[in-house]
Amino acid sequence: METTASITVAHGDGIGPEIMSASLRILQAAGAKLDIETISIGESIYNQGHSSGILPSAWDSLRRTKVFYKSPISTPQGGGFKSLNVTVRKTLGLYANIRPCVSYHPFVDTKHPKMDVVIVRENEEDLYAGIEHRQTDQVYQCLKLITRPGCEKIVRYAFEYARRNNRKKLTCLTKDNIMKLTDGLFHKVFDEIAVEYPEIRNEHWIIDIGAAKLADTPEVFDVIVTPNLYGDILSDVAAQIAGSVGLAGSANIGEHVAMFEAIHGSAPTIAGQNIANPSGLIQAGVMMLVHLQQAEAATAIHNAWLKTLEDCIHTADIYKEGISKQRVGTKEFADAVIARLGQLPSKLPPAAYANAPQQSASHTYSKPRATKEIVGVDMFLEYANPNPDELGEQLQKVNVDGLKLVMITNRGVKVWPGGMPETFCTDHWRSRFLSPEGTPIAHKQIILLMEQLDELGLDVIKSENLCTFDGAPGYSLGQGQ
Ligand code: NAD
Repeated sequence: METTASITVAHGDGIGPEIMSASLRILQAAGAKLDIETISIGESIYNQGHSSGILPSAWDSLRRTKVFYKSPISTPQGGGFKSLNVTVRKTLGLYANIRPCVSYHPFVDTKHPKMDVVIVRENEEDLYAGIEHRQTDQVYQCLKLITRPGCEKIVRYAFEYARRNNRKKLTCLTKDNIMKLTDGLFHKVFDEIAVEYPEIRNEHWIIDIGAAKLADTPEVFDVIVTPNLYGDILSDVAAQIAGSVGLAGSANIGEHVAMFEAIHGSAPTIAGQNIANPSGLIQAGVMMLVHLQQAEAATAIHNAWLKTLEDCIHTADIYKEGISKQRVGTKEFADAVIARLGQLPSKLPPAAYANAPQQSASHTYSKPRATKEIVGVDMFLEYANPNPDELGEQLQKVNVDGLKLVMITNRGVKVWPGGMPETFCTDHWRSRFLSPEGTPIAHKQIILLMEQLDELGLDVIKSENLCTFDGAPGYSLGQGQ
């Protein structure tokens, strides 16, 4: 017996209110059991001076209902405003973004008639940790953070998703040929967890060739799991080549709360004209009903929606002479879906959702803590003179017991000892000091080193400890080292 579920709904900005009212009408007509709390977010809240675009009372509602059905909002241009989406995802720990990208050939024009790919994107980490610094006059840095718990959560989620949805293959995409530690960890965790799912084929591709393959022959992919930045870019490409960004919905899943939305934005130029396609938000609603264990309503809506597409009743964004039969507005499209509730598509594969037990809410991390030893330090310096040999000469003057200068790099390339005169050097240098025999050093030696560099008049901008974990180096080599 399906029970009534409390959800929080935001009608959003631009086309948001139109597509939300169309979607809610369909959900209710299909018998979804929903108790709705409505909140305001976006433009109206930003304009009241709340830089996050959301009020404390809205957070209370989200914490209470734990399910957020969200229309797109407009993020004001210019400084001072925070992206509401990023705030909601990170505050509520929505670590997994799931975006099915399906083509509906021959009813929606596409170059890829057989596409049915689900992209599972890590949603909290990577370059999106938002830790950026200007370090020198010339150089800016954004920290890419990849964590073992983060990798384990997203990879396990992706395998569970594949199992629950009877998918056959999971592809991991990273750039671990270059980022051996960060992307390397993501790939390693993927390989570790894959053995627990023998019925699902697993493979790894380097992201660049994987992305090219996805754009060219998406039918060779089934489910994809990938870190945040690659997933952000790839999922838009995938949605676009499937037919239209107006057709796809997405789920953002956390251990406590889940958020469901269309993938497109608030499309302000077509707002208020009853021409927007509500399909993305309808698809998000179907994903929400599956999450709420209301599989019957989810199945009915998905099939009625497919039948509407098949009957060639199309909104302007997907209307095409020769394919479409009737051009309809937002409201009329919703009416057409409601009229088809209970019908199945005849050519497109019908949906059939089941009320499966929810994926376990919390994860236990498998690895015991490693034994860490500090064996050296990278000292980062701002130094305007572009001559590495002069910097090398200066740095060799430091004398700290147990630490020896082994190399200097500029933008990761070794320039001392034995650099090439052709290498372009900025004002941002890394000097690597290692314990010659690999014997552990103490923090005090690092402090002493920093003091000596300061006394030499060198501008230390940061230091990074070089550690081993259970004896294995936890740092990459310099390019050319
Ligand atoms: P957009 O997705 O709003 O629009 C891109 C193009 O697609 C436009 O031509 C638009 O008319 C069309 N389009 C989008 N959705 C459509 C639909 N349902 N039916 C028919 N056509 C549709 O992207 P944008 O123009 O870059 O951004 C507009 C605003 O939306 C910005 O303020 C942006 O910050 C915001 N935005 C919000 C979200 C979100 O809330 N999840 C996501 C992306 C962008």
